[in-house]
Amino acid sequence: MELRYCTKCLYPDTKPGLRFNEKGICDACVWAEKKDKIDWNLRKKEFEKLIEQYRCLDGSRYDCIVPVSGGKDSHFQVHVMKDLYGMNPLCVNFVPIDLIPLGRKNIENLKNQGVDYIEFTPNPKVYRKMEKYGLTEAWRRELARACWNFYGSRSGRCSIQNSTNSMGRKSASGIWR
Ligand SMILES: [Zn+2]
Repeated sequence: MELRYCTKCLYPDTKPGLRFNEKGICDACVWAEKKDKIDWNLRKKEFEKLIEQYRCLDGSRYDCIVPVSGGKDSHFQVHVMKDLYGMNPLCVNFVPIDLIPLGRKNIENLKNQGVDYIEFTPNPKVYRKMEKYGLTEAWRRELARACWNFYGSRSGRCSIQNSTNSMGRKSASGIWR
């Protein structure tokens, strides 16, 4: 099979799910151009209006759920919600069965930003089946979708149940539903 490269950035089509338009330009390049045309000030105002609907004024529940992994994106999202907007987020993590020590260290660092945190560990047998499916049956066109459906539905439902059950009055309703 012959490799195909983006005509603009030379990114190869070995990246799962990468598509090219009629000019041979990859999704990432097309999206980069779109981002330049977005009115980010307007987006910010829309976002601020949205989160105000979920801010809990009496402290009886979390304001939102922030799905986290412990990486840089998670740290940034927690910083924005907590420090910039003064929200009280519940951080929820779908922890892979093969978490390495550095991953655990990152999670501890994220928690030390000053947030409540719960994690969901999948059934290893089911997780391995899904991983195998992603790598064999769904390679390229469905890989990301297969994984993220699993992460989203499983971790979301379970974490909301857990947070409601184990934290008494606190419910985990919020922006992410
Ligand atoms: Zn490109």
